[in-house]
Amino acid sequence: MINVNRGLADPDLAVVKVKQLELLRKLGRVPLGTEISGYRIVVEKLWKAQWYKCCYCERKTTWSFNDIDHFRPKGSANRMPGCAQRHGYWWLAFDWDNLLFSCSSCNRSAKNDRFPTRIGSVSLQAEELPPGKERPLLLDPSGSENPVEHIQFNPLLTPDGLDWWATARGGSEIGAATIEICKMNNAEFRELRRDHFLSVISPVILDINEALEASQYPLAAARMERMRELLRPRSSYVAFSYDAFNYFISEARLRAAGIDPMLGISFIGR
Ligand SMILES: [Zn+2]
Repeated sequence: MINVNRGLADPDLAVVKVKQLELLRKLGRVPLGTEISGYRIVVEKLWKAQWYKCCYCERKTTWSFNDIDHFRPKGSANRMPGCAQRHGYWWLAFDWDNLLFSCSSCNRSAKNDRFPTRIGSVSLQAEELPPGKERPLLLDPSGSENPVEHIQFNPLLTPDGLDWWATARGGSEIGAATIEICKMNNAEFRELRRDHFLSVISPVILDINEALEASQYPLAAARMERMRELLRPRSSYVAFSYDAFNYFISEARLRAAGIDPMLGISFIGR
């Protein structure tokens, strides 16, 4: 997960919001048994703003069969461990700042209606705008926190090769909760990371290492450009690529070779 930038709010969504909120205000919730979907008019726009990637797992995917995720769930919200209240954020169902493009695995199988909050958090009530005194225990890809500073990917050597697991960087509480909510360590995501490492990351690392071992520092510096491309927001699995690269080639080693790594954590996804 890296930060995403939606860009300017969609004016068409604002029109839909005015009309739809009339109904939702009367009910005080989203209609039961009827899926509201007017917010889907922004799915393609969000998809493009997020570089065609799911905001949580960073896989590139098509928009047509995938989802708009409501960061604050619209229907009902499971806020445990911080709060037992279950009301959904219906008044944010058409709010540009609450919408993200997500693959169906992350939105439906993983996150669903879960929206954990910290102990002592005060949940928003109808029509209140975030953040108020609410303290989510879930990283918002469009928020001010850099997800890379909270989630780290570490390899485990198995008979089948390296198995990359998401862990809480520096013991981050919100990182640990986000990993659990988004099921970042399920078999599907670990297999995607394994494949990305073998087919994309590993060849670049091997080439840079080869140049470093031969003391061919200008060549190593040139090859670093390929790694930097893999860390641009538009690439797949940027957060994972950052940790995989750092695991094998430290910044200290690059600096010793006179190469500016320019791979500081604050750079990632920005
Ligand atoms: Zn996803």
